[in-house]
Amino acid sequence: MTVISTHQQHVLPTYGRFPIILERGQGTRVWDDAGRSYLDFCTGIAVCSLGHCHPRLVEAICGQAGRLLHVSNLYHTTLQGELAEEINNHAICLPGKVFFSNSGAEANDGLIKSARRFGHRRTQADGSPRYEVITFQASFHGRTLGAMSATGQAKIQEGFDPLLPGFRYLPFNDIEALEAGIRPETAAILLEPIQGEGGVHPATPAFLRAVAALCRKHDLLLLLDEVQTGFGRCGELMAWRVLAPELQPDGVSWAKGMGGGVPIGAFWLSDRAVDADGTALSSLMGPGSHGSTYGGNPLVCAAALAVLREIRERDLCANVRRQELRIRKLIESWKLPVIREVRGMGLLLGVAIDPALVAVEDGKTPALTISGKLLEAGLLAPPAGPHAIRLLPPLNVSDAEVDEALAILRRVLSA
Ligand SMILES: *Cc1c(COP(=O)(O)O)cnc(C)c1O
Repeated sequence: MTVISTHQQHVLPTYGRFPIILERGQGTRVWDDAGRSYLDFCTGIAVCSLGHCHPRLVEAICGQAGRLLHVSNLYHTTLQGELAEEINNHAICLPGKVFFSNSGAEANDGLIKSARRFGHRRTQADGSPRYEVITFQASFHGRTLGAMSATGQAKIQEGFDPLLPGFRYLPFNDIEALEAGIRPETAAILLEPIQGEGGVHPATPAFLRAVAALCRKHDLLLLLDEVQTGFGRCGELMAWRVLAPELQPDGVSWAKGMGGGVPIGAFWLSDRAVDADGTALSSLMGPGSHGSTYGGNPLVCAAALAVLREIRERDLCANVRRQELRIRKLIESWKLPVIREVRGMGLLLGVAIDPALVAVEDGKTPALTISGKLLEAGLLAPPAGPHAIRLLPPLNVSDAEVDEALAILRRVLSA
């Protein structure tokens, strides 16, 4: 209890926290201060891609900490170049360049700044800059002033206005609304291939293709927020490749799973020409245009390299796809009326609950109530919106661990 009261006394109460104190992790399991173990299908919200204390990641971090932890971006380091090369050659596989941030919100801020730069270069007919970024209802792009303003959820923005101007939120997966919603000042469209925090809602392939076509038609940047979906989580290194593999985004943001637990994010900009002179989009963010003191330091780059190479060399995407099928099949076989559907892709899955069949605890949503029951039964699985439970195991989760977690889920949902 003292840990919780110390929190209450000294830590800003911005999070609704479950009443457990986690002390140790190994693989897909974590242990609390009483020595009780939990299967971790939360993984720090899709962060610990390799599970806890993976030997390759531990070795990369410990080794690098003893060599060189941090230097300024005024200088070059081998690791930052190698990580950008790994991302370009193996993950995004399109010509472009990477900027390293420390979080997903910062990565999205970088994309928003890039869209503004682009709008200054490719102006409206009267020469005034374009600046607007279209995003979508129920999206989530982060908590900084910029990323929060891009987020299409009133509850995230409540009490923080005036927001950063230049965003409009259109209905997700609605092609007609998007066609009608583009204005002279629009410079970019930003979307998640799967809305994660919004309740695990995938974009339809038709919608993604329509977004791409409209971007081409109206000279807009196509920006993908792969902060939660990226680097194997959805069964391919990039989630858009599952939905519409031919897509060529202009910008992409990442964080969460790319560092396996160290704070790192990144955004990427395409090298494609944006005007008749052949100006590369990536060149619009030139020297002095953006920066981060910590961004891409040797410690986090060593960690992210270990994570991304492990995912690629062990083909963890294949395990992700296999486990998705196993999970879907098992859950379907239960035929539980309380489960409406399983949404999502790969190991970013949302189990949608029929709220009418859940006895909610006071002040809690159905999803939060069930999340709490799962925790008591030994399974960490976070809510996604008010009516869905997210399953986010590590990408290397085993058959036995999936079976064990689903047995808990079945027991709790049957009760
Ligand atoms: C988590 C998340 C963010 C914000 O990332 P932080 O690292 O918390 O700033 C942005 N976009 C999406 C899609 C996310 O899931």
